[in-house]
Amino acid sequence: MTSPLRSFIEVPADSHFPIQNLPFGIFEPRDGKARVGVAIGDLIVDLSVLDELGHFRSSEFRGRNVFSEDSLNAFLALGRPAWRKTREIVQHLLSAETPTLRDDGRLREKVFHAQKDVVMKLPARIGNYTDFYSSYHHAHNVGTMLRGPENALMPNWKWLPVAYHGRASSVVVSGTNVRRPSGQTKPPDAASPTFGPTKSLDYELEMAFLIGPGNSLGEPVPIDRAVDHIFGLVLMNDWSARDIQAWEYQPLGPFLAKNFCTSISPWVVTLQALEPFRKPLPLQDPEPLPYLRAKSNFTFDIQLEARLQTSLMDAPHIITRTNFQNLYWSIAQQLAHHTVNGCNLEPGDLLASGTISGATEDSRGCMLELTWRGANPLKLPNGETRKWVENGDTLTITGWCQGDDYRVGFGEVSGRIIGSDE
Ligand code: CA
Repeated sequence: MTSPLRSFIEVPADSHFPIQNLPFGIFEPRDGKARVGVAIGDLIVDLSVLDELGHFRSSEFRGRNVFSEDSLNAFLALGRPAWRKTREIVQHLLSAETPTLRDDGRLREKVFHAQKDVVMKLPARIGNYTDFYSSYHHAHNVGTMLRGPENALMPNWKWLPVAYHGRASSVVVSGTNVRRPSGQTKPPDAASPTFGPTKSLDYELEMAFLIGPGNSLGEPVPIDRAVDHIFGLVLMNDWSARDIQAWEYQPLGPFLAKNFCTSISPWVVTLQALEPFRKPLPLQDPEPLPYLRAKSNFTFDIQLEARLQTSLMDAPHIITRTNFQNLYWSIAQQLAHHTVNGCNLEPGDLLASGTISGATEDSRGCMLELTWRGANPLKLPNGETRKWVENGDTLTITGWCQGDDYRVGFGEVSGRIIGSDE
């Protein structure tokens, strides 16, 4: 039996970034040059330095120096052989058994950065962003509000992973303030719309995956090859203005209610790191059409939480507890469906899950569901109430897979609401 994987870097059991994880991100140290790093505990391994030292010169890297770039795109395009090789090399160098870094203080100074000393950037140049609608309970709750329980799900919902094309330019990294958007709204009893800051700003707890190698225009990706095109996952908050949405969404769907800001977490957790937490996808009824049937359809056991902290609170309060397994459609099905008409995906494209709600009331992934469109305001521990998120509130989403004595975590995606004129 092999000994458990352990690093010479001390990592507490509740850290999101043990040696079993090794997520990739773009960090900017004080020298102002953003580049590729891997998180370990509270530190970052500078892959551009390891690259200069010659650690990534095997054929998988095709002679490219992808780790000194300010986005993951070039690395994403290299595909699974390069991703696996990089993980293997970094895991080896960080292992408690390997002396290279462990016993060389001067080298460690060059290779490691403290996370608290750097600024995290968006992990990729995101050319295209798609948002699915793949949680049964979210779709059912929202459908019930709009059309009643009998007609909650549209007839297509269990046949295809419903989605819309979102806006890539307004995807921001965690920590970016979220300015309350203004727009047109019209209460049902008003004769005409008015213009002003949204009165019903909401969060949506989601996860999203980053595309690795793309597919050529006109060439669908078969479902059993989908994972070759998926690099890893991040946490996502799809900020939404419900009053703007209600007035604008018919007949063409979300527009200005959604494209003012979408926040993602900076660290991308690879499918390889998630492998021990793979679970079979729950049974789908009706059975999907053949192009959506995989040899083994899988999901992951990822625990997810949303926390709200108002400007009057000393600590955040958990308002959603849910799990990635609450998604009806798998990421492989989403990708196969997205490309089945020949649509071409590109490295760095972002494909999001949709709000991840479960069956219980505390697992609802947005205020719209938690307060049932504002009818049952949330009561916070300090006596404040919330129908929607208000200026000065900070909303944080976190998520992790629980191993025996370690966590493979995603860190967090956080955003504070500021007023429309701040
Ligand atoms: Ca959404």
